Amino acid sequence: MLLCALQNGADMVYYIMCIENDTGQPELTEVLSVRKMIFRKAASAAAALALCLSGTVACYDDAYVVSALQYKIYGNYQEQTKPDPTEPPAKVTGLYASETKTTSIRLCWDKIQDADGYSVYLKQTGGYQEVGKTDAATYNVTGLLPSWRRHFIVRAYKIGEDGTFIYGPYSDQLFTATCADTVTGLKATKKTYNSVTLSWNRVSCNMYIVYQMKNGKWQRIAKPTTNSYTVTGLSNNTSYNFVIRACKLDDYKKEHLGWLSNKLTVTTPKNTIVKKNGVTYVNGILIANKTYGLPSTYNPGGLTKATYNAFLEMKNAAAKDGISLWICSGFRSYSTQSWLYNSYVNRDGRAKADTYSARPGYSEHQTGLAMDINNASSSFNNTREARWLANNCWKYGFIIRYPNGKQNITGYKYESWHVRYLGKDMAKKVYDSGLCLEEYLGITSRYK
Ligand SMILES: [Zn+2]
Repeated sequence: MLLCALQNGADMVYYIMCIENDTGQPELTEVLSVRKMIFRKAASAAAALALCLSGTVACYDDAYVVSALQYKIYGNYQEQTKPDPTEPPAKVTGLYASETKTTSIRLCWDKIQDADGYSVYLKQTGGYQEVGKTDAATYNVTGLLPSWRRHFIVRAYKIGEDGTFIYGPYSDQLFTATCADTVTGLKATKKTYNSVTLSWNRVSCNMYIVYQMKNGKWQRIAKPTTNSYTVTGLSNNTSYNFVIRACKLDDYKKEHLGWLSNKLTVTTPKNTIVKKNGVTYVNGILIANKTYGLPSTYNPGGLTKATYNAFLEMKNAAAKDGISLWICSGFRSYSTQSWLYNSYVNRDGRAKADTYSARPGYSEHQTGLAMDINNASSSFNNTREARWLANNCWKYGFIIRYPNGKQNITGYKYESWHVRYLGKDMAKKVYDSGLCLEEYLGITSRYK
């Protein structure tokens, strides 16, 4: 780099001129005749020189510092070589958020070669306000709040000869968000043999992401919008790990995640399955379903006394509400069920018969604890009687054994007429849980 400083007066303005593709030490006349020049103003020749040497001013092969007086001498060339200070820089493009945190957003955009810097604006009530200036094509906006969605724009500027800012057009606006706050207070509010209800403290966000540890990895299992979620399909007496984080979406559906919550380890309760004389009891409750059959010899001789008395109490209560209930099918022995099931198989085939009728030895009717009310067909659904039964049978110790929507769990289609006697305490617990009996006890109902 070749520098030539000329100083011919006390109150002169100095310029740095940079030219391309020159060799040797040209005359100033030659320098000024070269068209491709870059001018930068400096307060003194020494300051101009320092700018060149420090690299602050981009120089090519040769650079010259000349005084304004010299321009006068070569006045003809001055106009020709002076850059047009009114030409603004180009529009900023490619604006995006390269990193978002709880209280800050780092913006990036495409660099503009001839820009001296950029101004960054944040939309506030009342319009856009400048939040800062930067030389680089990036800026970290700080001091924001968690889960804020905000508009940003950026524009480039050049600094004119007189020190004024010459701005280019604004970029397209970017609508992005800070990260959601950290979720705290994750706890299990309810546990069953095969489900855990999680709840946590609410933070501002679009949704929460529930993670469960599976095979040594955190896996997303749900995206609830409220601060509670019930994880189902678990096994009894098993430990599970969960964490939650909040998520804020920007306009591009990009997720801005908060930190992970505390880790919660939950162990589901253990159920006890006992077999006595071939009959299965889960937590003391006699079970007859597709997994747990009864011996062909099991025969209580009719509905149990407790079951029948409970029915009478229910029937009387229903009568007071103007509802008439009767038992259309109560106890069925192994041989009765065998005859019934086989007649269904002959009519509809085995696969279809299995959806509504139990194989002999697997019917709840054989327990003496179950009965069909009024009309054992889907035409009973949604009748006044069926609605009364669904809303009130728990008060007398019964549950709707095969509820709507639980076919894959109970193994049977919805039967609004089939009730099972559990006793008042247990019936209330199962009713309040909203679960079917298999879910409540953490057992299956599948033929082997
Ligand atoms: Zn039935």
